[in-house]
Amino acid sequence: MPAESKAFFAKLLLKWWEKNGRKFPWRNTKDPYAVLIAEILLRKTTAKQVERVYNSFISRYYSPDLLAGAEEAELKKMLKPLGLGGRSKLLIEFGKVLVEKFSGTVPDKAEDLMKLPGVGLYSANAVLSFIYGQKVSTLDSNFIRVIKRVFGFTSSKARARNDKRAWEFANSLVPKGRSREFNWAVLDFASLVCKSRSPLCSQCILKNYCVFFADSRKIEK
Ligand code: SF4
Repeated sequence: MPAESKAFFAKLLLKWWEKNGRKFPWRNTKDPYAVLIAEILLRKTTAKQVERVYNSFISRYYSPDLLAGAEEAELKKMLKPLGLGGRSKLLIEFGKVLVEKFSGTVPDKAEDLMKLPGVGLYSANAVLSFIYGQKVSTLDSNFIRVIKRVFGFTSSKARARNDKRAWEFANSLVPKGRSREFNWAVLDFASLVCKSRSPLCSQCILKNYCVFFADSRKIEK
C-alpha cells in the first residue's frame, strides 16, 4: 500500500472526525492516570455505561495513592450498577503497582506500562498516543475491521490483534503529530459509519477508495 494512500486515508478520516467526532469526559484529560482508568473501565463494556460513572470515579479516586488504598466494597458499590463491580480488585491492584513500582507516576514506555495490571498493548498505546503524542495506534477489533475493509488487509492469525503485522500496518497509518485525534477518529468512524453488521457505505467518505465497497459492487452487478 503506497504511503500516499495511507496519508490520504488519515486526511479524510480526520476531516470527517472534526465534524462528527464523539465527546467523552476521558477525552478532555491530559492525565495519563485518568486515561488508563478509562481504558480499564471501557474494556468489554460500552462508552455510554462508563460515561455514567467516570467523572465521579475520577473525583473520588483522583490519584494512584487513593486508588491503592480504596476499600474494595466501596469501589464495588460504585461500579456494580453498571455491571463493572468485578473490576474493583483489578483497579486497586493497578493503583498499588503504580504506587509501589512507579512511585505513583504513570510511565511513558510501552514495556513499563504493560507491567501494570489490566494494561496491554492497546491501553499502553492509548497513553502513548493520547498523552505523549507518539505515532502508535490503538488497534482493537474495530480498528482491524476498518483496515480489513478499506485496505483489504488480511492477517494469517486467528486473532488479528495478536498479529505483529497488523500492529505495524496500523501504526504506519498514524499521521505524525495527530496520533491522538487519528486514533479517536478510527474508533468513532468504526462505531458510527463502518459498523460491524451494517456499514453505512452509501454515505461513507471512503467509499471510492474502499476494497470492501468495490467488491460488494462487483457482486451486485
Ligand atoms: S465504504 Fe463501507 S466498508 Fe468501506 S469504509 Fe466506508 S462504511 Fe466501511
